[in-house]
Amino acid sequence: MAHSLRRIAVLGSTGSIGTQALQVAAMHPDLFQITALTAHTNKEKLFEQVRAFRPQMAGLAMPLSLSDIPEDLRFCHWSFGEKALTLATQTDCDDVLVSVVGMVGLTGVMAAFEKGKRVLLANKEALVAGGSLVTEAAAKVGKNALLPVDSEHSAIFQCLQAAGDNETDAIYLTCSGGPFRDWSRQRIYAATRKQALRHPTWAMGQKITIDSATLFNKALEIIEAKWLFHVKHQKIHVVIHPQCILHSAIRFMDGAVLAQLGTPDMRLPILYAMSYPNRLPTGGEKLDLLSVGTLSFEHPDPLRFPSLRMAREVLDAGGAAACVLNAANEAAVCGFLQSGSSMPLGKIYGIVEECLAQAGHLPAADLSDVLYADRRTREIAAALLG
Ligand code: MG
Repeated sequence: MAHSLRRIAVLGSTGSIGTQALQVAAMHPDLFQITALTAHTNKEKLFEQVRAFRPQMAGLAMPLSLSDIPEDLRFCHWSFGEKALTLATQTDCDDVLVSVVGMVGLTGVMAAFEKGKRVLLANKEALVAGGSLVTEAAAKVGKNALLPVDSEHSAIFQCLQAAGDNETDAIYLTCSGGPFRDWSRQRIYAATRKQALRHPTWAMGQKITIDSATLFNKALEIIEAKWLFHVKHQKIHVVIHPQCILHSAIRFMDGAVLAQLGTPDMRLPILYAMSYPNRLPTGGEKLDLLSVGTLSFEHPDPLRFPSLRMAREVLDAGGAAACVLNAANEAAVCGFLQSGSSMPLGKIYGIVEECLAQAGHLPAADLSDVLYADRRTREIAAALLG
């Protein structure tokens, strides 16, 4: 199969996904060229990456100036503050990997589509908050202009390659269950930061690790799947699968179920989006079915994990409700991470519920509506956090 060079701008290059994307890009230097690298605050790591990948442009979200940049790294254009994300999408790239954390991803996604670039989406918040805006902008760029990097959605996308014109009858969205899979509701609600940061299978950033403990990660993924695959949420079934080997599945009218399996290693979904429709070695362990043993599947408990119910409620409500859910969760997780051990995990659910009660009715007709709902929700959450 013919492989052509893909030029990629990486937004959020020093995080878990960004770092692994650069790892796989470095394995295939004849296939991938990095045009831009941006980071939030980790400048030392960004400097290392700029030295290794020599992009056209580099940026930091923090307000620095060129005099803070080592002299040997001034060969590329530097940008600081909010505009760095937008500028990165304007480099000579084919694809923009959006792997920043949180709502700020929406800015990067919309800027990339405006320039006609393909988006490799590792940021679920953008799609959750701006679902219809993002999918409309993607459709204007063309077919497959929005490729999922999230492991479950990549799995579904990979299965859909075999679907042809056949409609899917159900989507099975798998979920590790997080560190509190077997815990009582009382213990989950009282859990501390330290307990929530201990994920059994995946090593990820802090925000997504907390989201995996509350299952808000899966709640966001239900909404993400709805927009990516244009399905009603009633067709999306969350399945607890603690081994994290089967990364999601689809079912057809005749009852056939197609699934994608692999080791729990993000390099596969990252590289599949980067090299789509081709497959390349990731450098990771390959799955050996003979050494897998037992795979198990369970119902999630909606009473212990109310986040899953909330996801379906905001989809039924429409408007900016999903944006409010996302912003409230983001603010609550931030508060939880900063609280040391004084805030119990359960308070995150309470804050999201209360924000939805107060702001869930807001409209989302355009980007300014979405940004307003996001801002308003953060004010409400801040007041609730004290
Ligand atoms: Mg995921």
